[in-house]
Amino acid sequence: MSTSDHLFERACRVIPGGVNSPVRAFKAVGGRPVYMQSAEGCRLTTADGRELIDFVNSWGPLILGHADADVVAAVREAAGKGTSYGANHEGEVRLAELLTSLIPAMDMVRLVNSGTEATMTALRLARGHTGRNRIVKFDGCYHGHADYLLVSAGSGLLTGGIGSSAGVPADAVRDVFVLPYNDDAAARELFSARGGEIAAVIVEPLAGNMGLVEPAPGFLKTLRNLCSRSGSLLIFDEVITGFRTGLSAYATFLGIAPDLICLGKIIGGGLPIGAVGGSRKIMEELAPLGRVYQAGTLSGNPLAVAAGIATIEKLRRTLPYDRLAAFAERIAESLNRAAGAEGRDFHVARAFGMFTPFFKRGPVRNLEDGKGCDTGRYGRFFRGMLDRGFYLPPSQYELCFTSAAMGEGEIDRFISAAGEALTEAFGKP
Ligand SMILES: *Cc1c(COP(=O)(O)O)cnc(C)c1O
Repeated sequence: MSTSDHLFERACRVIPGGVNSPVRAFKAVGGRPVYMQSAEGCRLTTADGRELIDFVNSWGPLILGHADADVVAAVREAAGKGTSYGANHEGEVRLAELLTSLIPAMDMVRLVNSGTEATMTALRLARGHTGRNRIVKFDGCYHGHADYLLVSAGSGLLTGGIGSSAGVPADAVRDVFVLPYNDDAAARELFSARGGEIAAVIVEPLAGNMGLVEPAPGFLKTLRNLCSRSGSLLIFDEVITGFRTGLSAYATFLGIAPDLICLGKIIGGGLPIGAVGGSRKIMEELAPLGRVYQAGTLSGNPLAVAAGIATIEKLRRTLPYDRLAAFAERIAESLNRAAGAEGRDFHVARAFGMFTPFFKRGPVRNLEDGKGCDTGRYGRFFRGMLDRGFYLPPSQYELCFTSAAMGEGEIDRFISAAGEALTEAFGKP
């Protein structure tokens, strides 16, 4: 038995399903999850000593790759000065200054410990600010695992075949309207009937939790206008897109100013973090200045903040964004050309340094489209890639991420391995 299988067996006895996050299970792709021993640059080393080129990158945070020298040095230095103070320190001020200076829509920011906490805080703030209860989310968008956000919540639930989570009281989701992504008419209709009751619209401005789905032209602008007219807040969940699409929030490049932006993942450089920010007026409604309560024992943690600052500073120095996008584009173009020539039900959706190999003919504009994917075939492709030394997300409904630690060589190897794995997945003629 491999070390990995042995670890999984031990894990299953003491951890539900053997995993600390359901997306790490291999339920949707078959086989058993792989255990990791270490990682450096674009490579993971498994517990059995195999090297895998990593396209998961911890689900987004590791834009610089694993164990980046500058990030590791910053964390080491911070750790030597104490791992948590339960009091204030310079690092958290520096990260907040960095975020607010790079994101024009953020005058102020509150640091929390995860993306889930960021969206929970944003929605409580929106409800406190507007005095309204109802919120709008989109089918297939994931905003963390707070009760009222676990309706039609995308990847993790989709993969586990769970429509919505058990244990969520009907009352908790009573105030949540779920709309199809990229459907301006549905949003307009809801707002004309119920706009005055809506505290906030929360949306992934570039959806990543039903696979990669780009916003249709005008969709986000429509949401901005509807919210402004009805006095509702527009919340962009940028836990993935913040600092992934460029050195700011995606909102900055779109030229749309949401009322609140949620961040996470990259801004912690691989350590646990989240953040919510917006205008001074709204942010000052948070305790201790305002009446909306929010707290965290480890919030603004010195290690997480140090890793985040080191990551963002390095992104600012090196600006890897064009390269990250070019890598992903080369993969998408090459696989799409081949799929076209073979007439396969397959296409790669790509934006910036992110892509999803969808096992259906394109395009995917919302969850309904995405549901038509052949997930069995994705599983075969996933296993074929794993056999060839590539680590992809163990689900059709996720993103692959390129990292700055990759080079042209890894991209070439990915393309040729994917060619073989696709031939296997579709069966030889
Ligand atoms: C990952 C993610 C979250 C949740 O972040 P956690 O740190 O896992 O709690 C929220 N929103 C989006 C868009 C995400 O991708």
